[in-house]
Amino acid sequence: MTTSADWFDRARAVTPGGVNSPVRAFGSVGGTPTFTAEADGAWITDVDGNRRVDLICGWGPLLLGHSHPEVVAAVQDTAAKMMCPGGSTPGEVELAEAIVKRLEGSGVDEVRLVSTGTEATMTAIRLARGATGRDLIVKFAGCYHGHSDGLLAAAGSGLATLALPGSAGVPEAITAQTIVVPYNDLDAVRAAFAEHEGRIAAVITEASPANMGVVPPAPGFNRDLAAICHDNGALLICDEVLTGFRTGPAGWWGREQEDPERGGWQADIYTFGKVIGGGMPVAGLGARREIMDHLAPLGAVYQAGTLSGNPVAVAAGIATLRLATDEVYATIDAASDRIIAAARREFARVGLPVAVQRVRNLFSFAFGDGEALGWTGRDEFGVSAPTNEDEVKRQESWRYPAFFHAMLDAGVNLPPSVFEAWFLSSAHDEDALAAIEAALPAAADAAAAV
Ligand code: PMP
Repeated sequence: MTTSADWFDRARAVTPGGVNSPVRAFGSVGGTPTFTAEADGAWITDVDGNRRVDLICGWGPLLLGHSHPEVVAAVQDTAAKMMCPGGSTPGEVELAEAIVKRLEGSGVDEVRLVSTGTEATMTAIRLARGATGRDLIVKFAGCYHGHSDGLLAAAGSGLATLALPGSAGVPEAITAQTIVVPYNDLDAVRAAFAEHEGRIAAVITEASPANMGVVPPAPGFNRDLAAICHDNGALLICDEVLTGFRTGPAGWWGREQEDPERGGWQADIYTFGKVIGGGMPVAGLGARREIMDHLAPLGAVYQAGTLSGNPVAVAAGIATLRLATDEVYATIDAASDRIIAAARREFARVGLPVAVQRVRNLFSFAFGDGEALGWTGRDEFGVSAPTNEDEVKRQESWRYPAFFHAMLDAGVNLPPSVFEAWFLSSAHDEDALAAIEAALPAAADAAAAV
């Protein structure tokens, strides 16, 4: 048998670090990454023959679990007819229509489909610059928007200052067009607008951040952020690549509109990915018609893609959105309640203080006593919780590798980093949820023992 360890050796000989995306390398938890042989519903089986409950779900796309039969059928039927015809196909139109319909009231009239979230946010920024005639972009520390140069920016030393490269190979001249400010901090955004009056094209934000663990926006944060942008002639780019059509039928934007404390705002450009491809490479951006008209071929902002709107890929997205009923979201919300309750019970039993970081069906846990660590928020249980990247990083992240490996040994596949959300799906049934609950006690013991 060729084991995961064998495959990892072979992989390292032909691929940097043995992986095609860095987090897969188990860098922050240690050990050998597993190589998947097959995946079905809530379960994933590695080449070593271990079958585990999966809480990664493709990093978000698999709202319905792995290889839902109707999604697979849609992909197979389409692939048998065509794979890459090079011209337009009906599926692209149907997927764009489905997205626009779900986002009624958001201002999204039109959608341009691309293949990855990185492309979607990169294009959104070019579009915002083209539409406003301004150059600067504001982003929040700890929000991830893909790996385009200007978004791989790290905060400089002071508030509202121009950013430094967050990766080798990114010129300072490029990140000098990006201003990085702390999340949930509207005063920092106001200061950036005051310092760079008339020069900021857009603020980009995750609808609800989930790439520093989940850090919910404070009630009204997105609404006030939109107002500040609009008062200053700038656009708000709401990145729903991860939250879109996962946290609710109209994404996190839609969930906020259901809540009087949070609703009543529109972004100018929204980005999508993950769920709209149902596990295939589809992403997109949407906006009002007058903004989208700036894109080629109508306007002067160029964007293109050989595989954009690929028919096989969009077939998976159309089927996924068709099957993502209100009931699906209610099921995953309830499953999240159950797993959060079970985890809290076990952490309490072993005496580990832990904050629940959560927006609906997206959650993660921050280890540590928030009062001692200076966290300034509260979770839904009234426990002290982190509100931005600086606070999140103060947590006892060194407990996570032990927790992660104990879960893995007990048959649960968690994200290999404490700074990632846990992803459930509608395929996580009684068997899968019970298996997670059964794994938690030993993992909580392991986290407490380090
Ligand atoms: N934006 C957000 C909010 C994301 O979570 C991600 C990926 N996790 C991206 C953009 C980039 O998407 P992709 O990995 O498809 O390029």
